[in-house]
Amino acid sequence: MVNTPAANLNAPPTIRHILVIDDDASIRDGCVLILTKQGFVVDTALNGAAGLDMIRQKQYALLLLDLKMPGLSGIEVLERIQHLAPELLVIVITGYATVEAAVDAMKRGAYDFISKPFTPDQLRIVVNRAITKMELENEARVLREEREKSLRDIATEKSKLRVIVNALVDGVLVINRENHIVLNNPAAAQLLGKTMESIVNKPLEHCIKDKDLSILPHMVSELQTKNLSAICREITLPSDAELHLRIHACPIKAEDEILGTVFVLQDISYLKKLDRMKSDFIAMVSHELKAPLTAIQQQIFTIAEGLLGVVTEKQNEALSRIKIRIDNLLTLIKNLLDLSRIEAGQIVQCKEPLQLNDIAQKVVELLSPQAAKKNIALHLKKAKNLPLIDADPNNMEEIFINLVSNALHYTPEGGHIVIKTGRQGEYVTIAVQDTGIGIKKEDIPRIFDKFYRVQSDQTRMVSGSGLGLSIVKGIVEAHFGKIDVVSQVGKGTTFTVSLPPKLNSI
Ligand code: ADP
Repeated sequence: MVNTPAANLNAPPTIRHILVIDDDASIRDGCVLILTKQGFVVDTALNGAAGLDMIRQKQYALLLLDLKMPGLSGIEVLERIQHLAPELLVIVITGYATVEAAVDAMKRGAYDFISKPFTPDQLRIVVNRAITKMELENEARVLREEREKSLRDIATEKSKLRVIVNALVDGVLVINRENHIVLNNPAAAQLLGKTMESIVNKPLEHCIKDKDLSILPHMVSELQTKNLSAICREITLPSDAELHLRIHACPIKAEDEILGTVFVLQDISYLKKLDRMKSDFIAMVSHELKAPLTAIQQQIFTIAEGLLGVVTEKQNEALSRIKIRIDNLLTLIKNLLDLSRIEAGQIVQCKEPLQLNDIAQKVVELLSPQAAKKNIALHLKKAKNLPLIDADPNNMEEIFINLVSNALHYTPEGGHIVIKTGRQGEYVTIAVQDTGIGIKKEDIPRIFDKFYRVQSDQTRMVSGSGLGLSIVKGIVEAHFGKIDVVSQVGKGTTFTVSLPPKLNSI
C-alpha cells in the first residue's frame, strides 16, 4: 500500500469536503470508504443534476466526476461548474480506453483524471495530489494577501511620514550612500533656494547654490571618518548675513553600515538676534553703571585718605568694606563688558609682536605681593628662544592675570605656583601649574561656561562671578589658540594656553 498523507485536519473544513458524482454505486461507496478513512468528509450524488444541486448548496474542495453518466454527461457538468464554482478542483473518472475523453475534460478545466477500475492507493494518490495543490495555492494566496497588506501599510506609513516631514518648520534632507537627495521637505528646499521636486534624486553638491552650504558634504565625510553618531555646526550664509543656520547631521546605519545621512537645517536667526539684543543690553547697562561706580570709588578713596576731614577707625572699617564691594562690582562690570566684546568679535583691539616670557614676567611681578601674603611660592620658568606671538598685549595680560589669580585663590597657604613658557608642536605655550585644591573630573567640562562656579566648601570662601575662565577661553580663541586643563583633586591644576607663533618668527 502506498503511504500517502491523510487529509490535513488543520486545514479549513471546506478543504476536506469532497463530492463524488457517479452513477456507479460501487465507485461511490468505494470512494466514501477509502477517503473517509483518510479524514475527508465525502458526499455523493448519483447523477450530474443532483451533484450540481449539492455544489450550489455547499462548498467543496474537490469533485470526483464520472464522465459517462445517464442524463447530464460529465463534460456538461464540468462546463456548468466553470460558471457555478470556478475554484472547485475536478478529477474526472474515466472508463477504459477513454484517455482522449480525459484529455478533453482537462482542456475544459478538469485538474486530473483517474481511470476505472482504480485501486484504493491510486485514488488516494490522485486525491492527495489535488489537495496538496490546493493547500499550496491557499498558502500562496495568503502570502500574496499578506504581502499586499504590508505594501499598503508601508504606503500608508510613507504618506503619514511625508505629511509629518513636510509640516516641519526645520529643513530635512536625507541623502543616500552616493550623496543623492532621497527625501526633502519644503523648508529644506526653500533654504537651498530650489523646488522640492527639482532636487530629489539629484546629487547633493548640485543642489547647493550657497557656497557656505558646502559644509554639508564635509559633515558627511566627518561623520564617516570619525565614526560619529551625530554632529552639529552653525553657519551664517554669506548670501544673507541675517540668516544663521544650525545644521545637525546623523548617519543612517544598518548593522554598522552607513546607508546615508539625515540633515536637519534649523533657522536660528531669531535666536542670534535675541542673543545680540541681550549682549547689547548687558553692554549698555554695564557702561551706564561703570561711570557712577568709578566716581563712587574715587570719592571713597578721597574720604578714606582723610582729604575731606578726619575719619574715625569705625568709619574707616566701613569704607574698606564698601571699597571691597565696589571693587567686586567694577570687576564684574569689566568682565561683562569683556564678554560682550568677545561675542561681538571686538575683544582684540591691536595685535603686535609679543614675547610671552615678558608678559609672564610682568604678571608675576604684579601678583607676587598677593602670593607673598598667602605664603605661596610663585616661580617663573622661561623657555629660551621662544618665538614671538602676534597678540593684543592687554588681552594677554588679562589671560594670565586671570589664570594666576585663580591659582592663588584656589591654592592653600604654603603652596606653589609655577608659570612655565615653552613650545609644543607648532604652538607657543604657557602653563600655570598650582598645588591647589584641584577640580573634579565632572566639573572640568563646565568651568569654561559663563557664570559656572564649582560649588564646594573650599570654593565657597572665594568670591567670583564665574566669568574669568570663559573670558580667558574667548580671548585665546580670538587669537586662534586653545586652552587645556589637567587637574587632580587635592593635588593641583595646570592650565596650558597654546598660541600660534607670529608668522616668520620661528
Ligand atoms: P571664578 O573664579 O570667578 O569662580 P572662573 O571662571 O575663573 O570663575 O573659574 C570657574 C571655576 O573653576 C571656579 O569657580 C573654580 O571652582 C574653578 N577653578 C578655576 N581655576 C582653578 C584652579 N586653579 N584650581 C581649582 N579650581 C579652579
